[in-house]
Amino acid sequence: MTTDALTALTSALPPASWSRDADEIAPHARDWRGRVQGDTPLLLKPGNTQEVSRILGICHDRRIAVLPQGGNTGLVGGSTPKGEVLISLKRMNAIRAVDPANDSLTCEAGAILETVQTAAREAGRLFPLSLGAQGSAMIGGLISTNAGGVHVLRYGMMRELVLGLEAVLPGGRVVSDLAGLRKDNTGYDLKQLFIGAEGTLGVVTGATLKLFARPASTAVAVAAVADPAAAVELLSLMKEQTGGVCAFELMPRIGLDLVVAHVPGSRHPLGREADWCVLIEVSSGEPDRAGLLMEHALENAFERGLVSDAVIAQSEAQAAEFWRLRESIPEGEKAHGKAAKHDVSVPVSRMAAFMAEAAGLAETELEDAMVIAFGHVGDGNVHFNIARRTPGAGDDFLAQAAPVTARLYDLVDRHNGSISAEHGIGTIKQSEFLQRKPLEVELMRAIKGVIDPHAIMNPRVLLG
Ligand SMILES: Cc1cc2nc3c(=O)[nH]c(=O)nc-3n(C[C@H](O)[C@H](O)[C@H](O)COP(=O)(O)OP(=O)(O)OC[C@H]3O[C@@H](n4cnc5c(N)ncnc54)[C@H](O)[C@@H]3O)c2cc1C
Repeated sequence: MTTDALTALTSALPPASWSRDADEIAPHARDWRGRVQGDTPLLLKPGNTQEVSRILGICHDRRIAVLPQGGNTGLVGGSTPKGEVLISLKRMNAIRAVDPANDSLTCEAGAILETVQTAAREAGRLFPLSLGAQGSAMIGGLISTNAGGVHVLRYGMMRELVLGLEAVLPGGRVVSDLAGLRKDNTGYDLKQLFIGAEGTLGVVTGATLKLFARPASTAVAVAAVADPAAAVELLSLMKEQTGGVCAFELMPRIGLDLVVAHVPGSRHPLGREADWCVLIEVSSGEPDRAGLLMEHALENAFERGLVSDAVIAQSEAQAAEFWRLRESIPEGEKAHGKAAKHDVSVPVSRMAAFMAEAAGLAETELEDAMVIAFGHVGDGNVHFNIARRTPGAGDDFLAQAAPVTARLYDLVDRHNGSISAEHGIGTIKQSEFLQRKPLEVELMRAIKGVIDPHAIMNPRVLLG
């Protein structure tokens, strides 16, 4: 980047809106997993949409590549700059309005998910998106990756939670639809283009999100099942008999062992006998009803031999403890060593067959392999991770596992699945994505060509 271009950007912004300080840039230039170390000549921190517009005007005219960044919790390498100008949305974090009568909330793209959840709660409403990185992930990043999380089963992914958004296009024009309408049949639904675009079309600067009634009662349980097939059967039963399953998360004993070993204060919820557990959350619009529904459904599951043991949380603290165990599996895994990670989905009906074949593949092809498969099985999404049984695996293990990853993705194809269920493509999954979807990639490139003709937006990410 030329000095002239740098000066054009910095002189167009107030001093608070940019930095070249190495210490300030450092946390923005490394990904959450510590796998990608990047660099940027300039960190921009716009304070409002007009400043973003000015930035993208200059960058478009001068062909300067940019990378928008939210909380930098993305898991596919898409949020780490490699020479691009970095636009952090962290200063644009205001909740602009909450409209309980319209069940909507409007915020800036840098608002942290937890802050949005709290603002909704304070207005007597629920914003249901919930995931392990919610203390750092920002609305713009969650929109740009079409984030999922633990409540997709009931409320859908980010794509279903956005009523409208505001985005700055390369060149600086602002496309904005923050009215919060639920019905608007006026042509193409352009906001959907930006949801899941991974910052390749423009910078999302604001959004109007859907809110929901808060459930009057919620129950959380952990149940032991024999295997993933039993988990899938249990899911059907719970859905039929409670009518209110919000979350259904698979937790293997091996994953819980790592949490207990590495995360202080953790313990197995049911002892160590069960090879597989599921965490189930049920909610209801009636007070005290969720617990009764959960109890009744689990009793039936016992009678049918689907569940061998179960515990229903007796307090909010115990429910939080169960959730903490589930959310700590990646931390336990990280402390054990590096793992080959696969965020994949298949139809729920094929989950058990897929997992059995995938585990067979990993265990026969990789010496000392340990499969840690966990997560949002209620949505057909499993984080199918392969670690080395012996602790302390490093990059050599990841290199060894690469051919297994390729074969695992072929298996996903055979089960009509997706190689990226919720984390996106970024840079890490790009080659697998490009080779699998030639027509879709051609259409996406055509759309990008219209909106970003000089390809300044996240040029290394998604479409490459
Ligand atoms: C512990 C942990 C648990 C997680 N659990 C889940 C989970 O359950 N479900 C799930 O879906 N994900 C999960 N993730 C992944 C991650 O939290 C999501 O991908 C999240 O949506 C990223 O938000 P962010 O603000 O950190 O975005 P970033 O990581 O900063 O960016 C992600 C992508 O979006 C682009 N981008 C960011 N902001 C903007 C913007 N304003 N305009 C345009 N483009 C932008 C970036 O360029 C990048 O390509 C988890 C991550 C961690 C670390």
